[in-house]
Amino acid sequence: MRPAWLEVDLDALAHNVALLRERVGGVRLIGVVKADAYGHGSVEIGRELVRLGVWGLAVATVGEGRRLRQAGITAPVLLLGGLHPSQAGEVLEAGLIPSLSSLEAAFALDQAARALGLRAQVQLKWDTGMGRVGFSWEEAAQVRRALEGLEGLEVGGHYSHFADAEANESWSRSQIAHFEAVREVWGPGYLYHLCNTAGILNYPEAAYDAVRPGISLYGLWPGVGLKPIARLLARPTLVKCLPPGRSIGYGGLYTTQGYEWIATLPVGYADGMPRLLYNRATVRLKGHNHPVVGRISMDQITVRIPERVGLDTVFEVVTPDFDPGSSLCGWAELTGTVSYEPAVRLAARLPRVYL
Ligand code: PLP
Repeated sequence: MRPAWLEVDLDALAHNVALLRERVGGVRLIGVVKADAYGHGSVEIGRELVRLGVWGLAVATVGEGRRLRQAGITAPVLLLGGLHPSQAGEVLEAGLIPSLSSLEAAFALDQAARALGLRAQVQLKWDTGMGRVGFSWEEAAQVRRALEGLEGLEVGGHYSHFADAEANESWSRSQIAHFEAVREVWGPGYLYHLCNTAGILNYPEAAYDAVRPGISLYGLWPGVGLKPIARLLARPTLVKCLPPGRSIGYGGLYTTQGYEWIATLPVGYADGMPRLLYNRATVRLKGHNHPVVGRISMDQITVRIPERVGLDTVFEVVTPDFDPGSSLCGWAELTGTVSYEPAVRLAARLPRVYL
């Protein structure tokens, strides 16, 4: 196996699921496993979530859903986002539940379903304030009338998405009120859901019938007891002592001050480590952090360590915590982004090992 790999701790996943369940009680969970389960491996994470009792999974593309089906996962799979009418046939063949945001998509899907002789299970996406996809909440009654005659469709649920449940309370409360208005028009008998991770944490009273956690499953949210589930590990391909005055890496951005032990690890920005982390990332060895020195290359980094170590030594390039220099949350902070981004950039070429 490649001496750089991602280790995913399924016990930590179970811990996170249990913590989310504590927050929202008995409502159903829809595990968001789009973008290869935020980089963690959608098939393995999806299987484990089903084993842990989630109601369903959610993906962003038909291809992502098909992969789950091909792996034998039979739980409901919701296709998030806007459905393009041209995808009507393939979404049905893949056995996914599409989200409808427009009448054009609804008509195309109705036609495709009738042609296949089936009734397509769909969910309606409502725009309650995010302005991205979804029927407008103000049009709930008109949409209901427009869909009434479509024999090829069976509406199973209604959902919406928070735009800023992390920080903006008045906006979030208005989204909840708009979702309530949709619920009043459609009434009981459907699966209603609104909450992403921030919603679960800040508005658990709006959990309705189901919640859709993503980032919290993977533990990449500090301060609430969640555990990051992945570690990026690597064994050095070379450990050498350089004399003073030697420059290291592209552009010679680092020069040794004295005799220094340098370990070269076979991971780089093509594995998802942000190149911008030059001079800021650290790597953990035996509980201590050591600086990444020199430019981050496409496939390699160089780390200054206090003494020689053997080539079997395992370095933690990503630690399962919130360390400022070595965790996914830390990398996000250092590069001015959200933890989602370094997670989804963890490269497919890194072997995944599930514990
Ligand atoms: N629901 C929808 C519609 C989403 O697009 C996403 C992710 O972007 C989620 C749920 C999960 O969000 P989070 O990862 O913040 O929990």
